[in-house]
Amino acid sequence: MQKCAHCEKMILISQNRRFCSIKCHDAYWNKQKKQAGKCYFCGTISFNRIVFHWSKQPIYVCYECSGALAGTIVPKTELLTAKIIYAHLKHKYEKFLIPQWNDNELDKLTGQLYNNVYDYASTQQHILPRLNYLETTFNCGQLESGFYG
Ligand SMILES: [Zn+2]
Ligand SMILES: [Zn+2]
Repeated sequence: MQKCAHCEKMILISQNRRFCSIKCHDAYWNKQKKQAGKCYFCGTISFNRIVFHWSKQPIYVCYECSGALAGTIVPKTELLTAKIIYAHLKHKYEKFLIPQWNDNELDKLTGQLYNNVYDYASTQQHILPRLNYLETTFNCGQLESGFYG
């Protein structure tokens, strides 16, 4: 047995669920969304807060940005933290950054090629605003080449 993550009613563990009902599932996630914030670095939705040496209180950092810092020496400044995250995201999504497809071009593709390019374009849509946010907020575009060595 385990407890429903929303109403705490007991549910059979063999059912391998976190919620006793769809209603509880929706209520739980609506509440989570209300508590969510914007990632301090990339501006995407974030449920997760971290305290840094340079931040006086916990700040929202999304899963991917906090993952970028895993295994690094804890950065001493805000700017250095942003630069590490930026370098990580840019490296990770490197192949998605060019070229950009427009809807017109997408319409002309069919079959598997369409699916591939569509996935590519939606990954771009996910990453470009976040890189842009980092660039404009922390001036990360000025990143010296070879930063991630
Ligand atoms: Zn429940
Ligand atoms: Zn982020």
